[in-house]
Amino acid sequence: MFETAIAGSLPKPAWLAETGKLWPKWQAEGTALDQAKLDATLLWIKCQEDAGLSVIGDGEQSRQHFVHGFLERVAGIDFEHKVEMGIRNDRYKAMVPQVVAPLSLISRVHGAEARFLRAHTTRKIKFTLPGPMTIVDTVADRFYGDRVKMAFAFAELLNQEALALQAEGVDIIQFDEPAFNVYMAEAADWGVKALERAAQGLRCTTAVHICYGYGIQANIDWKKSLGDEWRQYEQILPALAASAIKQVSLECIHSHVPAELMALLKGKDVMVGVIDVADERVETPEEVADTIGRALQFVPRQHLIACTNCGLAPMPRAVAEAKLAALAAGARLADERLAAAAG
Ligand code: ZN
Repeated sequence: MFETAIAGSLPKPAWLAETGKLWPKWQAEGTALDQAKLDATLLWIKCQEDAGLSVIGDGEQSRQHFVHGFLERVAGIDFEHKVEMGIRNDRYKAMVPQVVAPLSLISRVHGAEARFLRAHTTRKIKFTLPGPMTIVDTVADRFYGDRVKMAFAFAELLNQEALALQAEGVDIIQFDEPAFNVYMAEAADWGVKALERAAQGLRCTTAVHICYGYGIQANIDWKKSLGDEWRQYEQILPALAASAIKQVSLECIHSHVPAELMALLKGKDVMVGVIDVADERVETPEEVADTIGRALQFVPRQHLIACTNCGLAPMPRAVAEAKLAALAAGARLADERLAAAAG
């Protein structure tokens, strides 16, 4: 059977946070908020299991945003005085905190969520962390004066958290690096090395997610500017293929990425995006199975994991639930087709 997993985020229920937003406001505070986050996590564990996914995540229910959830536990960052910064090569402006002193972890970041996830499912669990290059691209630097130096400082902190997550029974630790698709030369030069620093010493499965972003307007406009064929992966996948990272998560369905680029990841597990996150229309199992079939031309069956293109966070909850079901049903259908073809 094909393994099935989500890239990371899932929508937050309306009682936990504002819906339809990438940076939603919480609907509670203090211990009530802590409880609500875990309640929402439990809900999504159940939904993923019911859909039939083989790898379960926390749906990132406990963090407001995939980067800032981590930064909130880092000393050396000034959250009081945010500044506007163009991020992902100026694709959009965001109010970001500033690095003002040497970085260190104030406390564990995701210990409570990881232990909760481990306690409530017997399936494999995956935990996501932002990658060092993407973090560097989402904060303002007033201290290090050098992107590489700052990336390695963050990589050390990510490594501390990742080792602790492993000790808590996390099976797969995934770093999210959407910035790799924006700064391809830098990614191949030092981004992958910073990623390996973040994953240093891990014996559990390590993964990286590289995508073209959530289905928000700024990303949709950017994608239109990329032409008919998106070959960004071509510049970074060779460096990843040579790296210690075991799994790579890529966009595929409805993407202009040529499928043959997946062949550059020989020896790696490829998490193939078979669910579109920029379109609320729910895929049919046939579409999902067809996408898996195309990927199988370039990725051996034992290395293919069916996944979503990116996180499902800004989508309506019912759509996300239906897409999880389509993901699992499509993977089952792809499996049946292979069995039928083998006679
Ligand atoms: Zn993504």
